[in-house]
Amino acid sequence: MLKHFNIVVLFLLCIFVLLYLGQSQHISWLWYVLLSVVFLVIEFYGAAYIQSGFHVPAFYKGKTEEKIIALTFDDGPNSNTSKILEILEKHNAKASFFCIGKNIKGNETILKRTFESGHIIANHSFSHDYLYDLKNAVTLEHDMQQANTAIENVIGKKPLYFRPPYGVTTPGIAKAVKKLKYQVIGWNIRSLDTKGEKPEIVLQRIERKLKPGSIVLLHDTVAGTEIVVDKLLNLLKEKNYKVVALNELIQKPAYA
Ligand SMILES: [Zn+2]
Repeated sequence: MLKHFNIVVLFLLCIFVLLYLGQSQHISWLWYVLLSVVFLVIEFYGAAYIQSGFHVPAFYKGKTEEKIIALTFDDGPNSNTSKILEILEKHNAKASFFCIGKNIKGNETILKRTFESGHIIANHSFSHDYLYDLKNAVTLEHDMQQANTAIENVIGKKPLYFRPPYGVTTPGIAKAVKKLKYQVIGWNIRSLDTKGEKPEIVLQRIERKLKPGSIVLLHDTVAGTEIVVDKLLNLLKEKNYKVVALNELIQKPAYA
């Protein structure tokens, strides 16, 4: 299996074999470079693709053949979140919102409304900073707990779903989520709604990958995503898809 631990063991084993062979014959230094490059490429792939489960197992789709899918929204709450809520309400659909802890201050009413409308509130870190992946497990654990406290102070519930910033996983993130008993949530349809393309193009990208059990990644903070969601919900209705909240799709509790 392509797991961080196995790859490290395999890499070290190969290094030992090269060192052993080097005692009796000439081994070019290029072999060490090649091995290191292969190791780094695999490590980069494993960290960048949450679906790989390289560092930590992640739910990125539901195990079902039924036509049900989940919509997930990252990076809120902010003023644009209300537009998404209105569209979801219009279609009577439930979604899941991965909130950044530091964005809650000043947006408590929106967060409360999201929760009271029957949507799931989940943890998307407190800081969401660019160097998140370089932090150690203790710092990450503190950041995750800080986000959970900010959410709990508004909705009175402790989220159990966590999505790492940028979907990047590391040994530190794996250690922290294991300790906090969080479920890591990925996606298998990336809308790329942050690129600022026309709603039709974003919609086509989602439609092409649509399958039973899909988890779609969107952003409630992006102006225009509400147009994509409106069109998407019409399309899903035509195709007889039911949109459900994540707990229904992955059959795991959303709160402690
Ligand atoms: Zn994010």
